Amino acid sequence: MPRKTRLRKVVEPPRFKGYRPFGVNAKNKDGIDLHYEEYEAIKLADYDLMNHKEAAEIMGVSRPTFARIYESARRKIAQALVETKNINTVYGNAIMDKDWFVCNKCHARFNIPKGMDSEKCPACNSINIESLNK
Ligand SMILES: [Zn+2]
Repeated sequence: MPRKTRLRKVVEPPRFKGYRPFGVNAKNKDGIDLHYEEYEAIKLADYDLMNHKEAAEIMGVSRPTFARIYESARRKIAQALVETKNINTVYGNAIMDKDWFVCNKCHARFNIPKGMDSEKCPACNSINIESLNK
């Protein structure tokens, strides 16, 4: 029986849908799925320079769990670099305290407090918006 994965808190979704290598034969279309929580782990540890204890607290997971997520993220990114694969960001097991959207017209990212409705991009007023919370 598969173990049920607890959700990990992510403050903000990644600001991109993916990364693509250039200067290589782009025939290889398959990419690596980087979960939101893996992106968050890299951000907290390697960008915000937090120690694992602080980062684990922010994500609402134990330290060993954080270490696992972080390790998985690094391996995926390393594999993408070495094997020149695309990186796709996917929702994974994240939980966010706000509803995040991306505008498909101007690519603005914005959030709306839970419980409030929105049908429009605040930057360009386009109604062509997409939820990032799955
Ligand atoms: Zn917009």
